[in-house]
Amino acid sequence: MVTGELETYAAEHGVKFFLVSYVDLLGVVRSKLVPSAHIGTMQRVGAGFAGFAAHFNMTAADPDMMAKPDPSSVIKLPWNDKVAWVASDLYMNDTPVQQSPREVLKNQIARAAEMGPGYHMKTGVECEFFLLKKSSEIEIADSKDDADKPCYEQGALMRHYTVISELLEYMETLGWEPYQADHEDANGQFELNWAYDDCLKTADRHTFFKFMTKTVAEKHGFRATFMPKPFVDKTGNGAHCHVSVWKDVNSPCSTNLFDAPLSPSTTTDNNNDHSNQALGLSVLGDQFMAGILHNAQALVALLNPTVNSYKRIDGRPTTSGTPWAPFTVSYTGNNRTHLLRIPDGGRFELRLADGAVNPYLLQAAILASGLHGIRENLPIPPRCDWNGFFPPPNIPALGNDFIDSYLFVQRQQWRSYTSHLSKWELDNTLDC
Ligand code: ADP
Ligand code: MG
Ligand code: MG
Ligand code: MG
Ligand code: MG
Repeated sequence: MVTGELETYAAEHGVKFFLVSYVDLLGVVRSKLVPSAHIGTMQRVGAGFAGFAAHFNMTAADPDMMAKPDPSSVIKLPWNDKVAWVASDLYMNDTPVQQSPREVLKNQIARAAEMGPGYHMKTGVECEFFLLKKSSEIEIADSKDDADKPCYEQGALMRHYTVISELLEYMETLGWEPYQADHEDANGQFELNWAYDDCLKTADRHTFFKFMTKTVAEKHGFRATFMPKPFVDKTGNGAHCHVSVWKDVNSPCSTNLFDAPLSPSTTTDNNNDHSNQALGLSVLGDQFMAGILHNAQALVALLNPTVNSYKRIDGRPTTSGTPWAPFTVSYTGNNRTHLLRIPDGGRFELRLADGAVNPYLLQAAILASGLHGIRENLPIPPRCDWNGFFPPPNIPALGNDFIDSYLFVQRQQWRSYTSHLSKWELDNTLDC
């Protein structure tokens, strides 16, 4: 980091203020608005925050937490050219704060770089959201958007052209290479996709995308929500993540290590029979996925961080037919009904995370789990090439009649309970 870099940036781009920003443990974005005349000092010593005032495991007696902006993350607000947003790294007593989500991710990135030929994770995230009326009621903004199967509906998409096209144009300006936008599976739900990149960049962009979407929606009189399950009878907001691991990222011969080798003779180091090379995923990709499957329960704690999250992943059908969210620890090919999907060669998709996920912990948890799989050479289990929303009756967990029946009635009771939204959830998650 070159001190003075942001001062130069301000001068060159006519920026008057910087939003010196970080994300706390519950995913809340905290910032200070800093005049550019003082950004050099902030880069050197950081902007001071009382850690206890944010969601951290700190006390009111702790010294100031200093947020030092990372110039490589700077983004000029497309809707206000006087202001630039910049992600920060947190320090206390001149030492990196280990519980800072961005630090947790950076530590995993450093571990990855030390393994094998130097691993480097690249990811793309799909941030689904709803456009609601800006009122105290939780109501979809477009009252005509009421079909049972509204996914990809042209009319419903174009009635929100103003918001969606503005977001696409902003992302183009920022160089994110957006390539599509659509109406998703729930009434009032949308998704905009942009190109995958280095996982730290994706985490910063994920954070900024939520800020930008909420801002643009508000400007046009709506409210955007990323709440995991704002309507219990509709598909929830996922934050699917597509993953690949690369080497030599800074050289022209950069290689995607998840691409299956062309020749079967190079597959001899495979330690099991369930390889996915025929689907275009390498042995390293299988090991990485095995790490995700092995750590799935821990991943739920990190990737589904709110009470409301559990209403998205409980497998209840929706008015569209399915919830499109995984509820078994299983993987498959190009099939959207399992935890992991291999949509294409050279990558896989993790469908677990939701709109409340902390963007940095999402990447950190995926990377940590994947590195675990690689380090331990964990075997990949067989693929589950069936409709995961209707599992076949012979899956081993089911047991005898009594267990089946008992689970059946208990699950019914649980679903009845979870089919209600509490005021607490709305108060705490609608603006996640
Ligand atoms: P789907 O809806 O089929 O799951 P999308 O097109 O909505 O997929 O999103 C796919 C995401 O995956 C995008 O962000 C895209 O850039 C990303 N992606 C594509 N190829 C790779 C890859 N090799 N590594 C990581 N991410 C990838
Ligand atoms: Mg003060
Ligand atoms: Mg998508
Ligand atoms: Mg989607
Ligand atoms: Mg997806």
